[in-house]
Amino acid sequence: MGVFELGIPTGVITGEHVRKLFNYAKSEGFAIPAVNVSSSSTINAVLEAARDIKAPIIIQLSQGGSAFYAGKGISNENQRASIKGSISAAHHIRLLAKEYEVPVVLHSDHCAEKLLPWFDGMLEADEEYFAKHGEPLFSSHMLDLSELPRDRNIEICEKYLTRMSKINLLLEMEIGITGGEEDGVNNTDIDNASLYTQPEDIYEVYRRLSKISDLFTIAAAFGNVHGVYKPGNVKLTPILLKKHQDYIKDQLKCKDDKPVWLVFHGGSGSVKNEIREAVGYGVIKMNVDTDTQWAYWEGIKNFYESKKGYLQSQVGNPEGEDKPNKKYYDPRVFIREAEKSMIKRVKEACEDLGNVNRL
Ligand SMILES: [Zn+2]
Repeated sequence: MGVFELGIPTGVITGEHVRKLFNYAKSEGFAIPAVNVSSSSTINAVLEAARDIKAPIIIQLSQGGSAFYAGKGISNENQRASIKGSISAAHHIRLLAKEYEVPVVLHSDHCAEKLLPWFDGMLEADEEYFAKHGEPLFSSHMLDLSELPRDRNIEICEKYLTRMSKINLLLEMEIGITGGEEDGVNNTDIDNASLYTQPEDIYEVYRRLSKISDLFTIAAAFGNVHGVYKPGNVKLTPILLKKHQDYIKDQLKCKDDKPVWLVFHGGSGSVKNEIREAVGYGVIKMNVDTDTQWAYWEGIKNFYESKKGYLQSQVGNPEGEDKPNKKYYDPRVFIREAEKSMIKRVKEACEDLGNVNRL
């Protein structure tokens, strides 16, 4: 039984189809990587990787990545570039995901309180799209209010989920603090204790949000860190995720061993068996950014190093003074090398999470 047999179509999926996909991943014990993109090139690389290994995929845009997609030449005052960039990328993904014939969950990444105008702008686009097509433009959005006191965090999530549930959007929320730095938000100095979310906190989120909609996921902190640090600096404790699930199961007196869809942030640089352990406890989405950024760059780096003699001037290379180098410096050549390297890394992330041959 694969994703297509469950009635999940190709292209960007929303609402009921996202629910089916996440429940399928949870019951089968695999997770789907959510790969950050910031250009048409990185989007196409993710789609190509997913197609090659017959896997559903999550494509996500950060606030900074969205602004970059719009172009650094546009001012981001009042989140203008981030809003337009995320919408533009969403249309690109919607059109091409069908051509690559893979189901795609289209998601927006971390949105801190100060970035809420970006979130609001995307929601307006979702509501407009819903009015015309009966579904939102995106599949899901993430609100990261983990820096706020718990109740304030949940309160704002309740408010947004109420609005989002009307158009079948899924909300990802974060509770507890993920260390490190990502997209300009720096948590490297946060003390260790707050890097682990408590089961009571997860239950409180579950209790309050499930009254509104079942379309929500929770990113819990279990020692995870955004970005890559020296080995040993990341002390992951995936067993905490099992404790969260057990606690909620107990409170709800339900039969499901994994009542919550969990999300794994800051997975770059993690040990593979810790990733697998986390997935076994109901993680259905894992963010991948730092490692695919490196892969993209490494593709260019290796290409440059192997073709150095052909990349110093428009004309003249080791084969002769008058030999042209156009076929080496054409962006389609070296960007393709970056894509090939990123595609390989996305496939590796899928393999780590058990997300291969799932269609
Ligand atoms: Zn996070």
